[in-house]
Amino acid sequence: MKTEVSGLVIKEVELSNGNRLLNILTRDLGIITAIVNNSSSRKNVKFLSIHILMYCRFILFKRKEYYTVDEFDILNIFWQIKDDLKSLAVCQYFCELCISLSPDTTVSGDFLKLFLNSVFYISKKIKDLKLIKIIFEIKSLSLCGYMPNLICCYKCGRYETDDMFFLIDSGKIVCKNCRTNSLRNELFARVTKGMLYALRHIIYSPIEKNFSFKLSENALKSLSKLSEDYVKYHLDTNFKSLEFYNRL
Ligand SMILES: [Zn+2]
Repeated sequence: MKTEVSGLVIKEVELSNGNRLLNILTRDLGIITAIVNNSSSRKNVKFLSIHILMYCRFILFKRKEYYTVDEFDILNIFWQIKDDLKSLAVCQYFCELCISLSPDTTVSGDFLKLFLNSVFYISKKIKDLKLIKIIFEIKSLSLCGYMPNLICCYKCGRYETDDMFFLIDSGKIVCKNCRTNSLRNELFARVTKGMLYALRHIIYSPIEKNFSFKLSENALKSLSKLSEDYVKYHLDTNFKSLEFYNRL
């Protein structure tokens, strides 16, 4: 059976027989696995050009649970990313994060939109890399069942105070007045009004508006630590690509 899908290649694996396995994030089918057959035919020589972070329209054959790539057209290759190691590292982290979260068909369309927007802004170098990383981490987890509840202090209902505290484990916020000594034992992060505004904007605004804000360098650093801690706590994974990115 032939299927046409548009999707972003997020992983490629060489097999011992020369064939390759691709993981493709699609709008309607979630993440699919497709085989690229190796042969000397002209058509398959063209297939060697398929690589990670390419956004393509694929014609696939489905046999049992496996897809085979029959034809493809490149829609965007974001080539500028490969020229910058830090940009490439953060994109590889996004790929790992996506595979770990494995968005189902109800959210894969939004996940793909988030991913394409993120790599677009990274390739154009018009947004701070740290900002894009924070947006990707918080929004991707929110889409896949880990959405924090940042509407108000979970104890007294206050919308905002000068300082609030984000609880990494429960994803709730608590104000200074309601913060108790027991909080010492919890994993938490202090958030300023600006940081809270940014987090609410990421979580509650549509994806196409997510990238339309700026933060001070200090707020970016603090929020980057918070979003990384949130990812690590809830996915219980140390991403190698993230460790590499942080060493650069
Ligand atoms: Zn409170």
